[in-house]
Formats: sequence, C-alpha cells, structure tokens
Amino acid sequence: MPPPEPNGLPTAPPSNPRQGDTAAPPAGSPDAPVAFRCNLCGTHNVVPRSRLGRETPSCSRCGSTVRFRAMAHLLTAALFGEGIALVDLPARKDIVGIGLSDAHAYAAPLAKKLGYTNTWFHTEPRLDIANVPPGIGARYDFLIASDVFEHVAPPVSRAFTNARRILKPGGVSCSRCLSRSRATLSSTSRDCTISGSSRRTAAGRSTTAPPTAATKPSPT
Ligand SMILES: [Zn+2]
Repeated sequence: MPPPEPNGLPTAPPSNPRQGDTAAPPAGSPDAPVAFRCNLCGTHNVVPRSRLGRETPSCSRCGSTVRFRAMAHLLTAALFGEGIALVDLPARKDIVGIGLSDAHAYAAPLAKKLGYTNTWFHTEPRLDIANVPPGIGARYDFLIASDVFEHVAPPVSRAFTNARRILKPGGVSCSRCLSRSRATLSSTSRDCTISGSSRRTAAGRSTTAPPTAATKPSPT
C-alpha cells in the first residue's frame, strides 16, 4: 500500500509488478496508472494518466478534477501552512471566506469545516466582484476564484482591487484563470495563481507570500 498523498496530487505508483503479471505500461504513457488520494473527499484512486485532465473527473467518489484538487491544495497550504485534505480539516468556523461560483465538489466540504459561503453572479447569495457594495471591506480571511477573473469586463483591475479590499489584513486570495493573451486565440492556456501580498497561517502568523506564476492583486 503506497503512502497517502495528502495534497491530492498524483504520484507515480509502485512499479514492481509481480512475476507473471502483465507488464505495466511504461511511466509517462497515457495508460500508466497513477495513484492519488483525493484531497476533497479522501478517497484513494488509481487512474490512467490520461484521466488526469484539468477538467476531467478523476475521483471515483466525488468526481473531483485536477483543477478542483489544486484549488483545495492552494487554499489549505495558504491557511494552514500545508496541503490538507478537506475531509481532514479541523472545524474552524472562525476562518471566514467566500467563493466566487465555486464548484460544489469543494464548496460543500469547505462549508462544513470553515466559515465559508459560496456566492454567485446571477443568484443569491450574490456577489459581483467587479462591483462590490460598500460596507464589506476587510471581512474575509480568504477568497477563492477559479476561472472567474478572465470573465470580468475590462478593466479587470476593479476585481483585483475589490478582492484585496474585502480581505482582512493577511487574508489570502486563491485564484486560477485562463489566459489566451499569447500570440493567438488558440486553445493555448496558462494557469495562474494569485496570492495576497501576505498570508496567514492557522496560528495567525503572517508571512510574505512568495511571488507566483502570475499577477498579484493591485494594491489599494
Ligand atoms: Zn474525491
């Protein structure tokens, strides 16, 4: 039995087939088995590498995708200093945060463990990150926005400014977006992670977030 993969990220499975077994597909091939523990529901899975697409459900229990698990890893690493499966999170309703149209697969466990509310652009509970009403500044410990900011009408800086404004000092913003700004409008995409200028661990310690692969929120 391989050790658990607490971050939900795939690792290479044991490559030591027993005598008489059919030879395993070579590592790196689309059929090569990849073992991982889902960091949303905690289920152990073994799937062909080809199933680990960004938007392909690959957890046999909750149907999480690589993107969903990456968001959970980003958030828990920022809040607690390490990636923790959502099912293993301590109950911390004092950690308050919101999601922007988050997927049910991680919104539901977050709502059970943390003071988390998912919000929507078109329905209640409603929040348009580009037009945040006054009075909710410095309220949240974290914000999640997966594939949201690329849909904001220009200037997108309004959304980043508001994201920064509604976070408490030391709050974290965990986001991914698609960028098609490179040479063509082909399917080329680039995932990016946006973190606040500082992050808070579970102990309340503030640390400077390292630069990430993309843009930081605009300072206010
Ligand atoms: Zn799962």
